[in-house]
Amino acid sequence: MNNSTHLDSIQKEAERFLREDPGNLMGSLVREENKEENSDDELIWATPLLGVARGDDPIFLEFRDRVDARHWTPAEAFAAGGYDPAPAEELSVVSWILPHTPVTKRDNARQREWPSERWARSRIFGEAENNRLRDHMVEFLKASGHGVVAPMRLKGWTQMPSDRYVFVSNWSERHIAHACGLGTFGLCDGLITPVGKAVRIGSVVLRARLDPTPRPYTRYDEYCPFKTRGKCGACIKRCPAGALSERGHDKRLCSAYLDDATAPYVAENFKFTGYGCGLCQTSVPCTSGIPKIQ
Ligand code: SF4
Ligand code: SF4
Repeated sequence: MNNSTHLDSIQKEAERFLREDPGNLMGSLVREENKEENSDDELIWATPLLGVARGDDPIFLEFRDRVDARHWTPAEAFAAGGYDPAPAEELSVVSWILPHTPVTKRDNARQREWPSERWARSRIFGEAENNRLRDHMVEFLKASGHGVVAPMRLKGWTQMPSDRYVFVSNWSERHIAHACGLGTFGLCDGLITPVGKAVRIGSVVLRARLDPTPRPYTRYDEYCPFKTRGKCGACIKRCPAGALSERGHDKRLCSAYLDDATAPYVAENFKFTGYGCGLCQTSVPCTSGIPKIQ
């Protein structure tokens, strides 16, 4: 099996899983006005986009400076899964982008203060499905004979306080996707990918040498015209919490809004335990692609 065939088979399996797994169904949208358009087979995630980085790519050591000294390299993540240490060059990282569907993006684009129900469901039940996809890809690749871990599913995965970034994790899915050629960071900290910024992200590390996906950028924030040329800034106006400004993303304000304001809103209006916002990811030039702002 050659390497490109292998990524192709991983892509096909991820697509099959998301098409057939009942966990990728949106579920009942409880409000009467949504009933006509919500079918029982409405999917949460659209077709995933995948990319690969080599385990010995120097960018993973750069993350020690750019993110946090405690951020795992692929070799550390692999060993944290209980495997014997593997040479970094024998490992590959596969990252996937799960795009919100057009109807979910449309619903949230109409919102000014609160998340739409589809968005909140995708944030909670969709991330649960992302976890099932992580677990499934581990089983699928193990069955193909590979040692493999989904770092975010390991006991050692953790979020930590950070002097520079308020909080960080030791495996940042957005940074991993950036390493895998899938996008660059926007003003609001989201990853702008070829299918936009309204996405969730996942990854696995496996013992196999796959062809890396080219990174068609040299800057970590190349796709955001505000970061490169001071143009756009649409996400600043979208934020109901005042958490975005020309200086970037205030994680404390954002997190307080999610926990203290949107959680009660979701419980009262949508009748489930959760939270969500994503207003900065919708109705902006980078929602569904790389912005074309001159
Ligand atoms: S909305 Fe504009 S400024 Fe904000 S991240 Fe997207 S491209 Fe950058
Ligand atoms: S998720 Fe909501 S609160 Fe947080 S930065 Fe985006 S718009 Fe603001």
